[in-house]
Amino acid sequence: MSLLSDNQHYQMSAKSLTLGYDNITIIKHLDLDIPPGKITALVGANGSGKSTLLRGLARLLKPRIGTIYLDTIDVFKLSTKDVAKKLGILTQGPVAPEGLTVRDLVACGRFPYQSWLQQWTKEDERLVELALEITGIKYLGERELDTLSGGQRQRAWIAMALAQDTDILLLDEPTTFLDLAHQIEVLDLLYDLNQNQGRTIVMVLHDLNHACRYADYLVAVKEGQIFAVGEPNLVITEKMVREVFGLECQVIPDPVSGTPMCIPVGRKGRK
Ligand code: ATP
Repeated sequence: MSLLSDNQHYQMSAKSLTLGYDNITIIKHLDLDIPPGKITALVGANGSGKSTLLRGLARLLKPRIGTIYLDTIDVFKLSTKDVAKKLGILTQGPVAPEGLTVRDLVACGRFPYQSWLQQWTKEDERLVELALEITGIKYLGERELDTLSGGQRQRAWIAMALAQDTDILLLDEPTTFLDLAHQIEVLDLLYDLNQNQGRTIVMVLHDLNHACRYADYLVAVKEGQIFAVGEPNLVITEKMVREVFGLECQVIPDPVSGTPMCIPVGRKGRK
């Protein structure tokens, strides 16, 4: 059940990317290749620059130096509509106009495909329904967004990004504010989108164990630079966690998935 119209994978990469706000530089000369068709998680301490990096990749922040490429094309050379057909973005704590229903929000995902010449089509309708179905919120279609629970609302935003029918999805902390069961539900949903539809997913995640479980590829960010990058079992080490997060931990295999699991060593409960 693929939404993707052309089934094309784009190779997203950043070359010498430098990003900042006003007179502060946050991301410094960063090079990164996002593996197409895989799940990548950006991890790192608070304030290390993960969201800034994601905003840069999403073209929401103009680089001071360097370039973001989709294949060989500089994303700033593409029109906003063209980018919106290739990249779906879910920022932190997105806000929708009051009174908007779930179906209306999801329909917004089809805006990049509309023009004076091409108005709302049956295909747009089909993709909105499919996005509602895949995210399991068809029954909430007529509900106003501000009447939903955090988990339901997060699904609605994901459905909007999905209706946009892009190869790449960039998500900033998609599990934030969700209880554990809903965190896993959203991560499972993203995993299914990756597995069944081949979407490339890049997300900022705070929970290292979730990142290890769900991501094929981890990017550990420290002070605006990449500290380590690669498969979770290569990136997650006690030394890395100490240096990137300032946390003493033990790394053991996750009993369910076998991926690395980070157990913090706090003061309480030590043997
Ligand atoms: P967290 O895990 O806390 O969400 P993060 O790793 O995503 O953090 P960023 O949100 O990218 O980090 O922030 C990196 C730095 O940039 C921080 O010092 C932050 O205060 C600063 N920063 C973020 N947004 C802005 C802004 N709009 N204007 C000025 N500084 C900003």
